Amino acid sequence: MGLLSNKTALIFGVANDHSIAWGIAKAFAREGAQLAFSYAGEALAKRVRPLAESVSGKWVEPCDVTRDEDIAALFEKVGQELGLIDILIHAVAFANRDELSGPYYNTSREGFRLALDVSCYSFTALVRGSLPHMRPGGSYLTLTYYGAEKAVPHYNVMGVAKAALEASVRYLAADLGPQNLRVNAISAGPIRTLAAAGVAGFKGLYGEFKNLAPLRRNVTIDDVGNAALYLCSDLAAGVTGEVHYVDAGYNVIGVPEPGGGERKE
Ligand code: NAP
Repeated sequence: MGLLSNKTALIFGVANDHSIAWGIAKAFAREGAQLAFSYAGEALAKRVRPLAESVSGKWVEPCDVTRDEDIAALFEKVGQELGLIDILIHAVAFANRDELSGPYYNTSREGFRLALDVSCYSFTALVRGSLPHMRPGGSYLTLTYYGAEKAVPHYNVMGVAKAALEASVRYLAADLGPQNLRVNAISAGPIRTLAAAGVAGFKGLYGEFKNLAPLRRNVTIDDVGNAALYLCSDLAAGVTGEVHYVDAGYNVIGVPEPGGGERKE
């Protein structure tokens, strides 16, 4: 018996085998979950379907999370074909490349709207759409980043979107707790993915991270997958509204060690 035996998880945000959502899918499959996947557009179908099949995920449906009609159609299918689900993973974000370089104050009105819509509002919209199909005891999880709390070079409007997303987690947790539904976020350290490649200077930030984080390493999609397993299983039945760090401890450091972390005893 795995930790997620008899549970069905619907996962948004697998683009390829580097995606954080894929790390989560692998951990869930290992613990016996039945997996269903949704992806953004037809271009991705070719990549997502074989991955889904490799973890026995037969249910793979498109949904552009900025379109209410897509979300409604998706959950109608969920009701017809999957029945009740236990877990929803939201690992989706987007901002225009030109909003992720240079100063934050250059963010355009449309760029701001798009980043907040895809990266923040979509979580609320998916939660609402899924409610009739969620089994009591169920769990929602989204992905965030430290740039929600502190200014990180070039993260810009995405940091603002993540701050709003983290606030959404708390409001949704308050709304849904009485129905025995939990809502949490994982704040992951930098991981090399398609989305991360859009942030100017990401390579440098990723490279420097392992010199500064207490564990002296980067985190992997498997680290995030295992933490997601805890948060979405009954092990975390008493946990909701949390932002849980999977960042090798980076967030607890106030001032980096002089000399770039090379410790002399
Ligand atoms: P990723 O593999 O590129 O995943 C991002 C996903 O969002 C892709 O599947 C993408 O699909 C999807 N998406 C974008 N717009 C969408 C839309 N309108 N409708 C539906 N799906 C859409 O990158 P990732 O790093 O794993 O990102 C997953 C989550 O982790 C994001 O919320 C990200 O901000 C967060 N996160 C990442 C890091 C990091 O360093 N990588 C750190 C902390 C948090 P398309 O490819 O088709 O656009």
